[in-house]
Amino acid sequence: MKQIALYGKGGIGKSTTAANLSAALAEEGLDILQIGCDPKHDSTRMLVHGTWIPTVLDLIRERGDADITVDDVVYRGFAGVRCVEAGGPEPGIGCAGRGIIATFQLLERLDALKGDVIVYDVLGDVVCGGFAMPMREGYAREIYLVTSGELMSIYAANNIARAIARLSRRARSRCSLGGVICNAKNIEGEAELVEEFARRINSRMIAYIPRSRIVQVAELQKRTVIEYAPESEQAGVYRDLARLVYGNDTTSIPTPMEMDEIESFALEFVQV
Ligand code: ATP
Ligand code: MG
Repeated sequence: MKQIALYGKGGIGKSTTAANLSAALAEEGLDILQIGCDPKHDSTRMLVHGTWIPTVLDLIRERGDADITVDDVVYRGFAGVRCVEAGGPEPGIGCAGRGIIATFQLLERLDALKGDVIVYDVLGDVVCGGFAMPMREGYAREIYLVTSGELMSIYAANNIARAIARLSRRARSRCSLGGVICNAKNIEGEAELVEEFARRINSRMIAYIPRSRIVQVAELQKRTVIEYAPESEQAGVYRDLARLVYGNDTTSIPTPMEMDEIESFALEFVQV
């Protein structure tokens, strides 16, 4: 079983990429579990046609976890993808990381952490140790950094690379970097910049996902691109990504860059 996680700056396109990746893998007949580890609980939404599935934490809060069954928390989406949303604490109180831990404990007890691939979609930057939990506790083994060529998104990816490097030294974590996914914002020299960033942190750019209008159109129709526009070029891009990720057996321990190094390096790709 492959256990992969997508990490990256807030709003960079993790959930969109994760849902399309899961859909493309499921289309091939693989058994996929996607777990949204974000209090916004919108990770799997496009796979279930825009419905808000109950979150694990809401269920635990309402009923306690003793009599929750697999069917209460795991919902079938497009092509049979099994969808789970961890949920989070009520805004302003509680710890989101702890919620993620409770979710994993429950899924383990229900024997739901299985399949050909588990895709973890984790909130934003690793601002709190709780969000590192899927990789810290040995669940997510292969981490994919989603970034554009924008400096802030490279910074976030670099910070996550630092977390992976640190955690990879712990016996329990077992995580390493599977690659960097460039989710393009159409900025100057973007593919080259992300490619070089990946190289400098001892990884590689595994895929370049163009910015495409069809992503928004599909989103408005509450579908993944794979489902809404299966013949589109963008669907082909997500299928290629799925094939590369599924077949990837090369991971690395990242070597994060220093902050000032990132700034001077980014300048090499932009005409000023
Ligand atoms: P968060 O950190 O808040 O969970 P995220 O990283 O999961 O955000 P998404 O919600 O997947 O980001 O994407 C943010 C927005 O960007 C969405 O409206 C989505 O449709 C759009 N988007 C993502 N990828 C692309 C793309 N390749 N082309 C066009 N739009 C995109
Ligand atoms: Mg998201």
